[in-house]
Amino acid sequence: MSSYQHSSFQIHQLPALNDNYIYLMESKIDSVLAVIDPADASIVNQACKRLGKPLTHILNTHHHWDHTDGNKALKQRWNCTVVGAAHDAARIPCIDIAISPEQAFQLGGLQADIIDVGGHTLGHIAYLFDDALFCGDALFGAGCGRIFEGTFEQTWQSLQALAQLDDDTKVYCAHEYTLPNLRFARGVDANNAALKARIHRDTQTRMEQKPTIPSTIGIEKSTNPFLRPLNADFRTEYAHINHIDDTALSVFTHLRQTKG
Ligand code: ZN
Ligand code: FE
Repeated sequence: MSSYQHSSFQIHQLPALNDNYIYLMESKIDSVLAVIDPADASIVNQACKRLGKPLTHILNTHHHWDHTDGNKALKQRWNCTVVGAAHDAARIPCIDIAISPEQAFQLGGLQADIIDVGGHTLGHIAYLFDDALFCGDALFGAGCGRIFEGTFEQTWQSLQALAQLDDDTKVYCAHEYTLPNLRFARGVDANNAALKARIHRDTQTRMEQKPTIPSTIGIEKSTNPFLRPLNADFRTEYAHINHIDDTALSVFTHLRQTKG
């Protein structure tokens, strides 16, 4: 279990299933202990036991089973409060509080901004607590989620909203997909020095069996191929090579379709 310090909480990162990350957010100012996207109840229960604290909340980013499968068992065990998107109220097990994007959400003494990151699914939300972003499957290390329910345009809007956050915002996404994503990135952005440095760094990190996550918004903006359409030079060159319009949306769409 890796832990990360923030000013008013700490975050414990729990590997689950093949490549999922479950996060426990432990408040430093009150008794809140919230799990984000519990893929597996038993892993969360073990971590609560180690911390010696009861689970108070479940926060879901979207309805997929590898993010909500633990809801029911955790709710039964801890009688915790389940929070999810109002749009997905019918698809999130045991939901108690249905929230909407652009609304501030109070979690005990902690406050989050709720960001609409629809695209991978409709009703996908991200939670921003201070400089900690829980973005589920919307944004990954050097990648983004497959578009199952939304449109390319909507997904591009969601990624742009995340790109507007401060560069030092920590990106706590829900999967360790960084190395395979970087292989794709290298193929479409070969001359990017920041990308080369990241490939070197993250390859080393995985050889040591450590997580590459969290990354930061700044790292993603400079190396993630799905945010690179924001860079005019990248956009122009990619559009030219692939004979497509040089708008950010058309470049993003081509990249997302090419990755498959
Ligand atoms: Zn998903
Ligand atoms: Fe997932």
